[in-house]
Amino acid sequence: GRDYSNVTATNDSNDSDRLLGGLLATGFDEASCLSRYQSPLYRKPSPYKPSPYLLSKLRSYETLHKRCGPGTEPYKKALTQLDQEHIDNNGECKYVVWVSFSGLGNRILSLASVFLYALLTDRVLLVDRGKDMEDLFCEPFPDMSWLLPLDFPLTSQFDGLNQDSPRCYGHMLKNQVVGNDKTLSHLYLHLVHDYGDHDKMFFCQGDQTFIGKVPWLVVKTDNYFVPSLWLIPGFDEELEKLFPQKETVFHHLGRYLFHPTNQVWGLVTRYYEAYLSNADEKIGIQVRVFDVGAGPFQHVMDQISSCTRKEKLLPDVDTVIERSRRVTTPKKHKAVLVTSLNSGYSENLKSMYWEYPTLTGEIIGVHQPSQEGYQQTEKKMHNGKALAEMYLLSMTDSLVTSAWSTFGYVAQGLGGLKPWILYKPENRTAPDPACGRAMSMEPCFHAPPFYDCKAKTGVDTGKLVPHVRHCEDMSWGLKLV
Ligand code: GDP
Repeated sequence: GRDYSNVTATNDSNDSDRLLGGLLATGFDEASCLSRYQSPLYRKPSPYKPSPYLLSKLRSYETLHKRCGPGTEPYKKALTQLDQEHIDNNGECKYVVWVSFSGLGNRILSLASVFLYALLTDRVLLVDRGKDMEDLFCEPFPDMSWLLPLDFPLTSQFDGLNQDSPRCYGHMLKNQVVGNDKTLSHLYLHLVHDYGDHDKMFFCQGDQTFIGKVPWLVVKTDNYFVPSLWLIPGFDEELEKLFPQKETVFHHLGRYLFHPTNQVWGLVTRYYEAYLSNADEKIGIQVRVFDVGAGPFQHVMDQISSCTRKEKLLPDVDTVIERSRRVTTPKKHKAVLVTSLNSGYSENLKSMYWEYPTLTGEIIGVHQPSQEGYQQTEKKMHNGKALAEMYLLSMTDSLVTSAWSTFGYVAQGLGGLKPWILYKPENRTAPDPACGRAMSMEPCFHAPPFYDCKAKTGVDTGKLVPHVRHCEDMSWGLKLV
């Protein structure tokens, strides 16, 4: 096993690894957020290095955040603009407020998207803490909080914001109340999956010019909208410079932003050391079933076996036990980490590998940290466990995920893993093939716009450039490859 005890000692030669190739800033209090510096000890070093340009962009963002963050003079000045309908002169700092909304996987992906948007538009990101953001994540920026102050004047409106809100950009466009002469003090951007054609104009260059002047943006979204940012002419060059390896956007931004709090990190590390650290190989299987009904379902079980067997992730068993007794030394130990709301899938695998020997002689241990039964988005430890499980999955060597699940996208992105995706079953039948390898480790944007802003017509946005394609698990989705 590895020695995890000495991780806070500073060792200059290892600094680049500890700081994820320079991704993380120095100068944090290590004890307040152990995961920030300990996570590299639990993962293989990432083969993907952040570009020097991304690193310098992050450092200058940190400076901006510190200069404009909550409590600073520019922040106070900007707040006074909120009292006005229109602003008379430009303030020093502009902001984008991320509203806490939807399941944890969705929130992580949408927050990373809004952060990238903040980087591209020189805005300061402020995070609505919702029910549990503070309990789940450490502060990512040095010396200044990313949390929206509790007395922020618009907070009480967040829950009610929707497509028809008077300050919703799409609503204003639809009702032709967007004038070019005066600059509004704030706008609401509705980028939730149910958004309409007018809301989708957010992804047009011309609209960005207008939106860019507004000092306060409030965004509600449950989507990873990064792929469509690459199709905006004003952003694409900067994105190419930031991410020369295009499929690394979430991998780097996710590792930069999302550090589990010490409480969640305890869940991760205790589990890892008890069940995973001694295995020769670790396989993650993330089972998310969107069918109605309790489960476990036989067709999902069949799909898991068929995928893991065909892709040689797990060995077959020898059901003729007496004949198969032979001495094989030394034995390879594989640990299978199953995450699911339901305990049935892992129980099934576990019994199979207990009752029968494997044909390869490998020893298979099957482990499932939690079985919460159903989604309980508002319960505190529920999401702590969900985050811990996404993290644990990201520490495996090979990963199997479920189609359509943002929970799986987070795990694959943080881990730098190209997963095998269990395709979505139709009519309670396992698809054939059961799974396929992802083209890239990037998350899928589930609700992209299909609009050519210049030609003002519909267009297949998955066919415009080679690096933005339709997803493996959702034909209309878009992902970076
Ligand atoms: P998605 O619905 O699969 O895209 O993922 P989300 O994370 O956005 O929402 C699903 C929510 O259900 C999670 O936030 C968890 O609260 C819960 N959930 C789903 N699958 C699991 C699981 O395997 N383990 C745990 N602990 N929670 C899960």
